[in-house]
Amino acid sequence: MPTILVSNDDGVHAPGIQALARALDQVGEVTVLAPERNWSAAGHPKTMHKPLRVKPVTWPDGRTVYASNGAPSDCVALGIMGALDLTFDLVVSGINAGHNLGTDVFYSGTVAAAMEANIHGVPAIAVSLGSVHEDQSPDQEEALALAGQVAARLARTVLEKGLPSHVLLNVNVPNLPPERLRGAQITRLGRRIYRDVLIRREDPWGRPYFWIGGEMPTGIPEDGSDVGAVENGHVSITPVGIDLTEYDFMDVLRAWGVEELLAVS
Ligand code: MN
Repeated sequence: MPTILVSNDDGVHAPGIQALARALDQVGEVTVLAPERNWSAAGHPKTMHKPLRVKPVTWPDGRTVYASNGAPSDCVALGIMGALDLTFDLVVSGINAGHNLGTDVFYSGTVAAAMEANIHGVPAIAVSLGSVHEDQSPDQEEALALAGQVAARLARTVLEKGLPSHVLLNVNVPNLPPERLRGAQITRLGRRIYRDVLIRREDPWGRPYFWIGGEMPTGIPEDGSDVGAVENGHVSITPVGIDLTEYDFMDVLRAWGVEELLAVS
């Protein structure tokens, strides 16, 4: 039986991770190790200046899972490096509350957890379910169960075919009633539009402080992109590599003579 480490960034008690663990029980031996609090949009921390703790907690269904004071990426590192004296064939992260599309992958703790697995040479899948929309909101338990089924099917395929260990699958499932959900599409990362504003206020001592935030991000629904796929009701599956090198630009830099410019004479 394959072994699967399940984590997330919404915290160990979030409904999404419980639905994911339940769905993956059909695929392998599931161990849950996740943050004790919500780390959404916390990116990819590596905790180096304080001790990391792992403690067992019990879910409402009676399952014993593990919670850590670390970030999602810490949880995956802890699991893979043997904090629970187990080894893992696959890491699955989610089910996140809200899509992780385009440049969201740089902020997302859900995707960071999967990337951390890749850094350790373990294949990984990140799963996110779209936010609830007023006009099309299905039963949320049903929506989570459906996203869990998508994750389980993909996990089975990945374990069978063997995903390269430097590639993660970033999966986004629209939050739609099952009858309105369309098939899966293989996509590229699309373009997000953040609608953040900088809010400047003053504390009681007259010193300025700031909030960065605003409305939910939108995106450009280009064909073939993850943004476009979920906008059209498709499940989006994007293979994301951890090599961020912009290969085409290496030749441009060479043509600029940058290597000669900086040569030590
Ligand atoms: Mn989250």
